[in-house]
Amino acid sequence: MDEETHPPEQAAGHGAVCARCGTVAEGDTAPLTWLCSVEDGRRLLFCESCARLHIRAVESRLDSVWW
Ligand SMILES: [Zn+2]
Repeated sequence: MDEETHPPEQAAGHGAVCARCGTVAEGDTAPLTWLCSVEDGRRLLFCESCARLHIRAVESRLDSVWW
């Protein structure tokens, strides 16, 4: 029942992948404009545009909802 989402493919050979839209970053690491968020023990990356949306969501309902 835990398989509704697959982890981002950021293993060998791949750079950072947006956890939301699947955009692949250029280079090996996420650009500074990307957001790194830890949710449920997982490290998720969001591209610049998704980060904006994500930050809004986080700001509007912080803390316990996400943990
Ligand atoms: Zn994205």
